[in-house]
Amino acid sequence: MTVRLVLATHNRHKLGELRAILAPLVPGLDPADVVSAADVGAPPPVEDGVTFAENALIKARALAAATGAPAVADDSGLAVDVLGGAPGVFSARWAGRHGDDVANLELLLAQLADVPEVHRAAGFVCAAALVTPGGHEHVEIGHMRGVLATAPRGSHGFGYDPILVPDAQPTRAGEQRLTSAELTPEEKNAVSHRGAAMRALAPHVAAALGAG
Ligand code: IMP
Repeated sequence: MTVRLVLATHNRHKLGELRAILAPLVPGLDPADVVSAADVGAPPPVEDGVTFAENALIKARALAAATGAPAVADDSGLAVDVLGGAPGVFSARWAGRHGDDVANLELLLAQLADVPEVHRAAGFVCAAALVTPGGHEHVEIGHMRGVLATAPRGSHGFGYDPILVPDAQPTRAGEQRLTSAELTPEEKNAVSHRGAAMRALAPHVAAALGAG
């Protein structure tokens, strides 16, 4: 295995999503040469930024420095309009314990219990950062807008996927609009915040790898 690109995640699910999006867009990049921070034993840094872009850069800088390879990091979350953009960068720990997806989602649903559909607009946001060992940095932001459902539906994805009904629906969707967790991984990547940010970052990754 030649490590050509390191992805700053310890989440297998995200590694799969990111590999699937990036590999086809970077000419000559073998998915096997894309490894995660967990694969190279790099511990996650403290994410003390207050924006998605700051946190993505913190993760990518730490990983490029630790490995000597170009590093890509994403930082993402759910921004609810009526909550002024919260949970935002606190999405993963909204209920207090980092990564407790079910508790986070249940708390958010309870907080919005009396909010009617017309005021339930929200969106996933993703900042994707590339940092090279030589110090080149680039950030792209992607969005996936939608409306929050009142109860979870679907078993794909992770986090708040079961309660976000994306505005962009696949053609197979009928009367009942689908949540992000009811989309196939391919359908989600085609319209997701992470897909948009990574597709915009891909030419910069290709240029960084081409430059060696
Ligand atoms: P991160 O891993 O620090 O970027 O935190 C992302 C958190 O935002 C996750 O734990 C989820 O709660 C939420 N999130 C981000 N992207 C998605 C998505 O695509 N689906 C569902 N939840 C997401």
